[in-house]
Order: sequence, then structure tokens, then C-alpha cells
Amino acid sequence: MPGFELFGDAERKEVHDVLDSGVLMRYGFDGLRKGHWKAKDLELAIKKRFTVQHAQLVSNGTAAVSIALAVAGVGTGDEVIMPSFTFVASFEAIMMMGATPVVVDIDDTLTLDIEAVKAAITPKTKAIMPVHMCGSMANLDALSAICNEHNLLLIEDACQAIGGTYKGKALGTVGDLGCFSFDFVKTVTCGEGGGVITNNDDYAQRLDHFSDHGHDHIGSDRGVEEHPYLGYNFRISELNAAVGLAQFRRIDEFLALQKKHYSIIRQELEPLSSVIFRTVPEGGEESYAFLNFFLDDLETARAVSKEFKTNGIDVCFHYYDNNWHYIRKWEHLKEQKSLYPLCQEIKNGLSYLKDKDFSKSDHYIGRNISCLIKLSWSEEEVRNRAKTMAECIKKVCG
Ligand SMILES: *Cc1c(COP(=O)(O)O)cnc(C)c1O
Repeated sequence: MPGFELFGDAERKEVHDVLDSGVLMRYGFDGLRKGHWKAKDLELAIKKRFTVQHAQLVSNGTAAVSIALAVAGVGTGDEVIMPSFTFVASFEAIMMMGATPVVVDIDDTLTLDIEAVKAAITPKTKAIMPVHMCGSMANLDALSAICNEHNLLLIEDACQAIGGTYKGKALGTVGDLGCFSFDFVKTVTCGEGGGVITNNDDYAQRLDHFSDHGHDHIGSDRGVEEHPYLGYNFRISELNAAVGLAQFRRIDEFLALQKKHYSIIRQELEPLSSVIFRTVPEGGEESYAFLNFFLDDLETARAVSKEFKTNGIDVCFHYYDNNWHYIRKWEHLKEQKSLYPLCQEIKNGLSYLKDKDFSKSDHYIGRNISCLIKLSWSEEEVRNRAKTMAECIKKVCG
């Protein structure tokens, strides 16, 4: 997955353009910038590649999720349904806007369980936020139907699945808004960066204003621009955008490598009866950023994970024991360990977490191993790795 592995001359050239003009900011300074608009160019490239009307770059993926919620009008007192398996950024972004994260189970897609979503809807529910974890997507048709029926927003977190598709549409373009991260370990990296895409003109205008203190960006003098509503600063710098521009132009090269490496490993593991691959919803195509599979039970997954490490198989994760990606270890959320007073709505809203049962999620995450697919592996390395992985699994599972 990490685009940084193939960092090279193309990235250096774009960064040099920015350093050459010295304009490190994405807005203004038209005369000085020698025609370089890296953030704008990257937004154009994203719109074109994903066939979407609007793209807004921001400082990181967490900010992308926050502003997606903000421009859709999600705030204090609202509930947002999110999965138990994601990155902490999901609830951080929701709580940033004063809304309450309602964490629900996942299923064998490793994304939102449809029945769990239905059961979690209350009069306060404002949005459903599927997180397309580890390169594959939630059942977006089922979620869209629920959103239509209950008049809810669908906000896709596609941070880990850029380039994946659902029924021919790019992930991130199915919902009302879609979010990407371009942090250092994502398929396309800006170093730090994020993006929001949408086909809704109103949301697009709000994204543009809100992410830059409410500036309406009319005219050429920032000092006299209007501020139609409150905003915040989630701007990306031109330096980061420059790196991302070079990386994004290579997205097809990166995706092809992910698919090639993924396929080699999958083929090697396919004959093993102890391995069950993660379910991809019908009509979906993964981004191949990870290869995910289930083993018999928690202890087997722990043992295989250990065997992988002993045999030099890195970047394979057993998320059940991970502090950042799974509800089990989010004590700071469950115990509301905030540095500042949380609003009463969030405090009350989170109280359900103290005793909510996530045994269905445990059943999947406990047995799951998620292997990151690197771009920099040689074909020989991937083949050797695949063989070693199969041997490790056979050794543990017999
Ligand atoms: C990386 C990631 C984010 C946050 O992105 P940052 O750019 O690191 O803030 C959000 N959601 C998911 C699923 C991620 O993997």
C-alpha cells in the first residue's frame, strides 16, 4: 500500500516547482507562483480519475472526515453510525463536530454489518459512515437503501481503499460524500493530506469555504473576502499537495502492483482448507491494498500471526490485539478520557459503550489476519513470501 515506497524523481520535480517559486500556500500569491497550483491540479486529477464533480484537498484524512460531516450539517446531538473495526480517526472526527459515534458490529466483509446498522438507528441518527477497511468495501447498495428509507446521509471513509470500485463506481463516489487520506502509509501519499469528494454542488462550496476559515474565495484579495459562515483551518500546504500530485498520477501503476502482489499470495493460500478469504460484496472490486483472511479461531490466528513474525513475514496484522483499529482496546473512548470537557450530548451518547456486546465483531476480528500489500516487493520476494506464509499456516493448522 504505501506510495512512499516508490518515491522518486516525479515527486522531487513537483516539490522543486513549489520551492522554486517559494509559494508554499495553495491560495493567492498569483504573481509569485510561476503558474504552479499543486493543490488545484491534484483536485482536478482526482475529479477526472474518479469521475466526480468536486474534490477538496485538506490537511489529513481525519480532517477530511470531520469536514465531510460538518458540511453535511452533522453536529451536536446527532448520532453517526460507524463500524467497530476502523481507525480511531472515525470517532475522533465525529466527536470533533460534537456528534456521537454509535459503534456497531462488522461482519465477514470486515465492514458494517447491515443488520447491526438497522438496529442502531434512532431518531437522532443523522449519518451512516461505512469504512472501507483494508482495501475492500461495505455493502453500499444495502446501506444506500437504509439511508433512503430513513433519510440519512451516507459518508464513505475510503481512506484504506482508494482505487477500489463498487458496481463500476469509484469508492467514495457512491455516498453523499467520500473521504480519502493521503498520509504517509496510504496507497497515494502527500506525506500528510486528505481529500473529500462529492457530486453535490452545495457541499462542494461549503467544503471550499469551511476548510479555509470560511473564506468565500471570491476576488483576489484575501483580506476583503467574505465569511458567509464559520469555518476552520484544514488547509493542505502546496508542498504536500505537490508530492501527492506526482503520486496520484501514478495511481494506476500502484494499483496494478497491489493487484499483482495480492494475486500471487492469494493463489498460494487458496488451496489451504484452513484459510477463508474475506467476503467482498457483490459488484465490488478491491483496491488490493491488503489481503485479508480468516482462520478457525482466535488462538489459531494468534499462533499464525506469531509464526509469521518468527519467519520474517512482516506487515501482517492481527487487529484483535491492536490498540488503534478495533473497539476492544479503545479504553480512552469507553472511559471518555478527554483533556477538555466533552459536551453533555457526547457524554450521555457514549455511555452505551460501557456494556455493549461486540462478540459478533470479535468473532471476525479475532480470526482475521490482514496482510499489507507492499509496492516495492520484487516478484521473487512476493513468491517467496507467499510460500513461507503457506508453510506457516500449514505448520499451525496441520
Ligand atoms: C488513515 C485513515 C484515516 C485518517 O487519515 P489521516 O490522514 O492519518 O488523518 C481515517 N480513516 C481510516 C480508515 C484510515 O485508514
